Amino acid sequence: MVESVQKLQSKHWHVQRAHFVIASMRRFADELRTEGFIVDHRRAASLTAGLAAHRAEFDPTTVVAMEPASRAGLTMLRRSGVTVTRSNQFLTHPEEFADWADGRKRLTMEDFYRWQRRRLGYLMDGDEPVEGRWNFDAENRQRPPRDGRNHWPPPPVSMLDDVDQNVLRDLPATVWGAAPDGTWATTRTEALRRLQHFIDHLLPRFGPHEDAMLVSSWHLAHGLLAQYLNVGLLHPREVCDAVEVAYRCGRVPIASAEGFLRQVIGWREYVWGLYWLRGEAYMELNELNAQRPLPPAFTGRAPTQMRCVGTTLQTLHDHGWVHHIQRLMILGNLALLAGLQPLAMTEWMWAGFVDGAEWVMGPNVIGMALYADGGQMSTKPYAAGGAYIDKMSDYCKGCRYDRTKRTGPDACPYTTLYWDFLARHEVRFARNPRVAQQVRAAQRLGDLAEVRVRAREVLGLLDRGEL
Ligand code: SF4
Repeated sequence: MVESVQKLQSKHWHVQRAHFVIASMRRFADELRTEGFIVDHRRAASLTAGLAAHRAEFDPTTVVAMEPASRAGLTMLRRSGVTVTRSNQFLTHPEEFADWADGRKRLTMEDFYRWQRRRLGYLMDGDEPVEGRWNFDAENRQRPPRDGRNHWPPPPVSMLDDVDQNVLRDLPATVWGAAPDGTWATTRTEALRRLQHFIDHLLPRFGPHEDAMLVSSWHLAHGLLAQYLNVGLLHPREVCDAVEVAYRCGRVPIASAEGFLRQVIGWREYVWGLYWLRGEAYMELNELNAQRPLPPAFTGRAPTQMRCVGTTLQTLHDHGWVHHIQRLMILGNLALLAGLQPLAMTEWMWAGFVDGAEWVMGPNVIGMALYADGGQMSTKPYAAGGAYIDKMSDYCKGCRYDRTKRTGPDACPYTTLYWDFLARHEVRFARNPRVAQQVRAAQRLGDLAEVRVRAREVLGLLDRGEL
């Protein structure tokens, strides 16, 4: 095992992300030693240097490694003469995904997901989905509870010990965010405890408010499990098996079981397959020519008065995590509307989230959130104004901005930028059936000229950290 100093210094990592990966690795090494394995766990300038030092000291005839989760890692291992074996951290190998994709005009997630359901047999009655439907999204997009209260128990917390303190001491000074508080498990035993907590207490309530956002709860009914899958503390098959059993025992409604399973065997595996299929050039795509650097609010250099963004960034600071709608419709949506550089946004989210990685942030940010791939991944840009955020959250009440206004100093930045975005890209989207109606509505706005003026002001305020 190699702790690469180069990797640690390659980005401004959130402290909880860096700690999670290194502490999980060190504890795994200790567990292996306890079981009688000989473990060479070293800190080295780079993975290459660590491998060279291992070879110099032990002179192995062969070195075998599991497929890493990045192109750069795979290239490095192959160049170094390492024998690479298949990864079991996903249920779909990139070669299987490529076979599925071969000859298809469009690679839609829904088609892939149904193929996965049939192939893997989850929530199936023979060749048909249980309860006669593949998709329960309609039931799973409810507004947050009106009382605004936190209805969801928090995840279990682990005690921090000397291992954690040593890891924190070894991290570079460039890490940011709140120090770990034991929320993220760093052993398999503790990860399994988090899985059981989710299945027993949160999965039954996962579906309805999957897309809702509330100030009072940072996690709602979300699983908080992705990072365990990503480092191998949990296996996707055991997570899906637990969901299947809970559903078959009548402990979880179909909408919740299906909605969660869709994330694991659908989205996660789909994004993984796309990452390998699209190749390196995909990361550089910038179809909308978005050139704005990250705003000071994102990089911690200025506070923001936008309550939705402020709440989301505070959660990110505190936990190194925010849920998928905050990622897509608060952070990603603002980046899309304001024209933030796709690669800079991808790198920021990769470094800032405890479950971040190149393979997951590349397709999700470049393709899904920012439409920088020109629609390869998504048939429409995920652009929305303040009305959507108000519908799905309680952020707008008490915000300094007015989500119904698109001009003037109190106008909601999302609402202003939404209409400006549609007008700016009217030629591109006028013939897209999923957004053409909104583009026509933007063209008919009586105050479009004022909206455009206000949009310039909003972007200036965003750049200066005054929004
Ligand atoms: Fe966000 Fe606009 Fe709502 Fe304020 S009014 S919370 S800026 S969407």
